[in-house]
Amino acid sequence: TLIYYHLAMTQILVASPIKKKITKELKAECKLLKERNVTPFLKVILVGHDPASVVYTTNKKKFCEKVGAKCEIIELPETISEKDFINVLNDINKDKNVHGCIIQLPLPLQLTHLDVGTLINKDKDVDGFHPENLYSILRGQYTPLDFVSCTPKGIITLLKAYEIPLAGKNVVIIGRSMIVGKPLSMLLTNENATVTLAHSKTENLKELTKKADIIVCALGKANFLDRSFLNSSNNQIVIDVGINKDGEGNMFGDANYSDIFDHVQAITPVPGGIGPMTIVSLVQNLLQAAKKEISI
Ligand code: NDP
Repeated sequence: TLIYYHLAMTQILVASPIKKKITKELKAECKLLKERNVTPFLKVILVGHDPASVVYTTNKKKFCEKVGAKCEIIELPETISEKDFINVLNDINKDKNVHGCIIQLPLPLQLTHLDVGTLINKDKDVDGFHPENLYSILRGQYTPLDFVSCTPKGIITLLKAYEIPLAGKNVVIIGRSMIVGKPLSMLLTNENATVTLAHSKTENLKELTKKADIIVCALGKANFLDRSFLNSSNNQIVIDVGINKDGEGNMFGDANYSDIFDHVQAITPVPGGIGPMTIVSLVQNLLQAAKKEISI
């Protein structure tokens, strides 16, 4: 009976019902745009053939097409020069038919020194990496002209959809990257959470996570967060951003799901949690970009 009690108590924060609802909204918006002769168009820059990147870009394209938007994956050779790469981006920046453009990371070595956030014009930056878009979340005011980075935006959408209170709550984020941890810390602060942004130099991480109401794992270490990071309340919520793969292509989150499942109030699964929410946010941003054309 004890096992049944725990299974019944832990909530699995799956993306699918939220994705379904938002897909419907996006389809309707897309239809409206097309009636006004605007077809939302995303270009995805893929340099080289990193297998994970190929899968991610294909998934993004599929979801765009599902809602009725256009998506083209621009495949560039692994060895492309910096000059040629910049030229491709400049052409896209000038192309009035393209509403959004994203650069799939990681980039090959000869391009890693580039500041990707500044390469795509702010108004097409549906990944939300441009300094002006980042400033909007720092400031805590988002207008329809600003794009919020996709993974952090998807996390907030999921938390709100499951009506998880954020105001006044202690949130510990593990990982301070520019694409997840840092922007998420701002968004959660804007939602009145009290945020601790932890990283590899953080001392006494377990003391911090034990005090958290919500723990976000975004560090890229398979099964890192186990029971020893949790307190005994069984009331903590774990958001698992990690996507880690073993040699056989199996996917693991940053949380040790089976170890902590019975000891948390709620947890996002991997796959099926934050991954799909990220793609949903991207296409929301694309439609937001396209809407600017007819200002609806
Ligand atoms: P990065 O590698 O850019 O950053 C990792 C962060 O984790 C760094 O800040 C690092 O600290 C910190 N870190 C690493 N090891 C530890 C440790 N032992 N203890 C505490 N902190 C640690 O990762 P990303 O943000 O790009 O990605 C994180 C994970 O999320 C990956 O698994 C990635 O695949 C996944 N991801 C998933 C997405 C999705 O759609 N679901 C989207 C984007 C990423 P320091 O700064 O000190 O080095």
